[in-house]
Amino acid sequence: MGHRNKDRWTLADWRPGHESVGAMLRSNWEVLAECDHCRRKRIVRLGMIVRFMGPEVSLWNRRSRCYAYPPCPGFEHFSARPPGAVQYFRLEGRDPPV
Ligand SMILES: [Zn+2]
Repeated sequence: MGHRNKDRWTLADWRPGHESVGAMLRSNWEVLAECDHCRRKRIVRLGMIVRFMGPEVSLWNRRSRCYAYPPCPGFEHFSARPPGAVQYFRLEGRDPPV
């Protein structure tokens, strides 16, 4: 993957070494959560997750209850934009990774 510019990298190129929120935080990944029902988007504060749940938590292939008000029955999925990438990638892939 080394010869391609980072704006051409796929999620599979970015993923190695970035399973945990601690690693994503260290590498300055921007993470968004979007509800699949009400479409609310929010920026995920990785530092808060690390602080309250620890650095080893993973957001890959995860869903989280939507906390929109009025109450929403939806679930959020996570997308991330690594530094140098031009797009957000949904954090979905092989679980566990190869
Ligand atoms: Zn929602």
